[in-house]
Amino acid sequence: MRRLEVFLGSFIVVCLVCLGVMVFNDTIPVSSKDSEPEQVKAKELEQETASEEPVISEEADEVVVTETEETTKSKSVDAENHIVCIDAGHQQKANMTKEPIGPGSSKKKPKVAGGTRGVKSGLMEYQLALDISLKLQEELESRGYTVVMVRTTNDVDISNSERAAIANEAGADAFVKIHADGSDISSVHGASALCQTADNPYNGNLHDESYALSECVLDGVVSATGCKKRQIIETDGMTGINWSNVPTTIIEVGYLTNKDEDAKLNTDEYQTKIAQGIADGIEAYYQK
Ligand SMILES: [Zn+2]
Repeated sequence: MRRLEVFLGSFIVVCLVCLGVMVFNDTIPVSSKDSEPEQVKAKELEQETASEEPVISEEADEVVVTETEETTKSKSVDAENHIVCIDAGHQQKANMTKEPIGPGSSKKKPKVAGGTRGVKSGLMEYQLALDISLKLQEELESRGYTVVMVRTTNDVDISNSERAAIANEAGADAFVKIHADGSDISSVHGASALCQTADNPYNGNLHDESYALSECVLDGVVSATGCKKRQIIETDGMTGINWSNVPTTIIEVGYLTNKDEDAKLNTDEYQTKIAQGIADGIEAYYQK
């Protein structure tokens, strides 16, 4: 059962990355090797959930008290001292020219893949990502954060490594990349987050912070929207993560290939909930 779920999880990740490359760019052959994230370690939802459950021990009462005090103390975040870089995934036109997947790497992937689209609504992932990103910008700025946007229009041509460079140059302390998922299996739905592994040759030193950011942002989205919490995927195959020098997460806000989730993602109200959930997650990360 567990093995099957891990297999299915990996299969879906591979599929969604390939989907973006193949469905929208079928005139340009791309080897599946280049499109697939490598060293994917999908953590099962059950494990995530289990690790959050309180440990029952003789000291349980004391632990609860300590945590409450810490939560109360850390509630105020010095918002003006934080810079968040938001990357709305993809762009109007894919750019299939290849670039190295990390500094000095001989492996290459397309600069910007095409992304997925709403199975019923026809909503393009790049448009959804931009809509949520603009709402997130507004939400974070209203909370006092400095926000740097990778893009504010669809008509751009910015590669994944260039997007990371924008976050690096801005001195961001959180780089949040907004995407939606796709799958060949129409019933698959829910949110996931991605970060590098601890062994990533380019920025494995940022794994712990990126994982914490991923966990906080994913939990924020799940609690704001009530969507299914899928998993945190650790992978070293994502160019936009590998070129980053700052804590980074890719948040996959839902499946555009699931008709119910597609319908929700296509509403202003649901997008606003996602943006608020991501903002809550970023704030929770800064409180750690
Ligand atoms: Zn995407």
